[in-house]
Amino acid sequence: MEMEKNERALLVAPCGMDCAICGAYLAGKHDVKSKGVRMPYCKGCRPRGKMCAFLKKRCPTLMQGGVEFCFECGSFPCGRLRTIDKRYRERYRTSLIGNSKLLRKIGMGAFLRKQEKEWRCAKCGGTICCHNGLCFACDIYELRKRKQKYRWRE
Ligand SMILES: [Zn+2]
Repeated sequence: MEMEKNERALLVAPCGMDCAICGAYLAGKHDVKSKGVRMPYCKGCRPRGKMCAFLKKRCPTLMQGGVEFCFECGSFPCGRLRTIDKRYRERYRTSLIGNSKLLRKIGMGAFLRKQEKEWRCAKCGGTICCHNGLCFACDIYELRKRKQKYRWRE
């Protein structure tokens, strides 16, 4: 089922995280609880109305809705964003600052096309999760087996 374009764009969080590849988003999308996998569900940072899961409480600019994306901010990339970015680069093979810069440079449409290509499951055409490298459709048994749902296995 294809998602409307603006709906898909709402899955890109202010920090540059693409919620479409997040484990909690994919868990909900695939209703993994019904398949015996215990993971929290999330509709994405923007759709759930919290603006930003990582930064908002600690960022007055985001709290006040001063920017739509962190890259629009005079302090970009701030220390808070750099901290999260480091964790995501090291553990989850994605860079929030890199995404932000790319988004600023090439725009939402091109950014999303690149994301879809980069995180596309070769088996089913679905989405690979950045938190564990699994497709929640094809690899559901592997996901159920794993104790650590937020870790890649080399
Ligand atoms: Zn798949």
